[in-house]
Formats: sequence, structure tokens, C-alpha cells
Amino acid sequence: MKSAQNSETINEQVTMRKQIVAGNWKMHETLEEGLALAGEIRKRLEGRSSEEKEVLLFPPYIHLAGIAKLLDGLTGFHCGAQNCHHKIEGAYTGEISAPMIASTGANHVLIGHSERRKYFGENDALLAEKTDRGLEAKLTPIFCCGETLEERESGRAFEIVDRQISNSLFHLPKEKIKLLHIAYEPVWAIGTGKSASPKDANEMHAFIRQELSKKYGRDCAETISILYGGSVKPGNAGGLFAMPDIDGGLIGGASLKAADFEAIFNAL
Ligand code: PEP
Repeated sequence: MKSAQNSETINEQVTMRKQIVAGNWKMHETLEEGLALAGEIRKRLEGRSSEEKEVLLFPPYIHLAGIAKLLDGLTGFHCGAQNCHHKIEGAYTGEISAPMIASTGANHVLIGHSERRKYFGENDALLAEKTDRGLEAKLTPIFCCGETLEERESGRAFEIVDRQISNSLFHLPKEKIKLLHIAYEPVWAIGTGKSASPKDANEMHAFIRQELSKKYGRDCAETISILYGGSVKPGNAGGLFAMPDIDGGLIGGASLKAADFEAIFNAL
């Protein structure tokens, strides 16, 4: 668990928020390859995860039941879906609902990844609905937010992230928002090999926590883990995770290599 004493946005107590390394596999790995990758990650990290230090895998939907079974009974080692539909069921060919995800044994869901926003037109209102569906199905959402390069260069990064979290999350009551995690993922850093600096990333994390604190109070803001995502690799994870408001990472490319993913976990 991370002590928050160095951050001006945080109170003096040792916080209860989790440290998390999460792997977003995106549209990679056949069923056979995915099960083998999950097995290799389990072999490397089994016994090292805990309630306070979690490993989360986000494979494509087809892997969920198999991977949930593979991880069953391990403490702090879970899987989840990369998306869910905003309705519970219905005539939505090709879609997957939050209760369906929960029925596989998975217990997490990514909401609002920038690739969903960009390629599938997901907006703040839709993502608010998806967050609700996830929580109703007892999944833990990881809500993704982050600005584009153009938004950062025009000085609007904080305004954009503020809009994303307030429009999609701030309808939730305190006891519900406490159940989710947030991932700050600057769009310009995803898959580009160009990570935000630890200082810049932490500045945005502290801002997000401050906004949560204004709306829900400091104690509540302190329980919410905020992960950084965007070209996290074994070589830069330590510097990012050492920052007081960064509680772990959402990892894309490097999560497909078990050795790199293990090295990133080791940096927590
Ligand atoms: C992501 O897909 O959420 C991500 C952060 O990707 P990458 O680590 O490859 O930048």
C-alpha cells in the first residue's frame, strides 16, 4: 500500500488504495495463445499478488472463461473484459453485456479506453451508462480518461480530463464511485513509445484525486486507485510508480510479453 504523505492533495494517513498492474491485450492472441500467455504470467506472478497488490488481465472476450478458471482461487489475480455494452440484453448483434462478462467468472471491465472513444464513437454519456452496467453486474470498472496531443498542446488537458470524469462518473453516489478505479492514459502516449514523464503524469493524477476529493471528500478520493497508462515498459515503470499519486499501470504492448509484464509488476 502506498503512503500518501508526500502529496499535498492527500491526507496524512496510510491509504487503503490498491496498487495494480493491469494488462490490456487489445485484439491480440488466439484462444490457444491467450491461455498460454495467461498461464505463463500466472507461473511468474503466482503467490506475489495480494489484496493490496493486484494483477489484472484484460484479454479479448473469448479468453475470459478460460482465464477466469485458470486464476480461480488466487488472491489479487483477476481478469476482466475490455468493454461491455450499455444495455443488459437485447437485439444487439455482436455485443456482450456486463452480466454476460460476470457469468464467465471475470470480475473487472475497462470502460472508455481511448480506442473505444476514437474508433467506436463512445462519448461521455454512453460511458456513464456502461459504468453503471458494470457496477450493477458487480464488475469493478477501470474508467479510462486522457487528452489527445492537440488538447495537451493547446493547454486543455486538465479541462478535458475533468470533463470526462465528471460527465461519466460524478452521477455516482459515494459508495459506488469507491468501487471503481481510474486509468489516466494520455492518448498521445498509447502505443507510441512516448510515455508521459513521472512528474507530468503525477500532476494529472493529483488533479484527478483533487477533483474526486472536491466532489466526494478526501477519504473517498483516497480509496480510489488511479493507474497510469501509455507506453509503460520495464525501463520506465519504476519512475512512474514511485510517484505518490500513481497507483500502478494499465499496460498495453508490454503486457503481451510475460517477462516484461513481470518486470513491470516488480516495479510496483
Ligand atoms: C493501453 O492500451 O491502454 C496502453 C496503455 O497501451 P501501451 O502500453 O501499448 O501504450
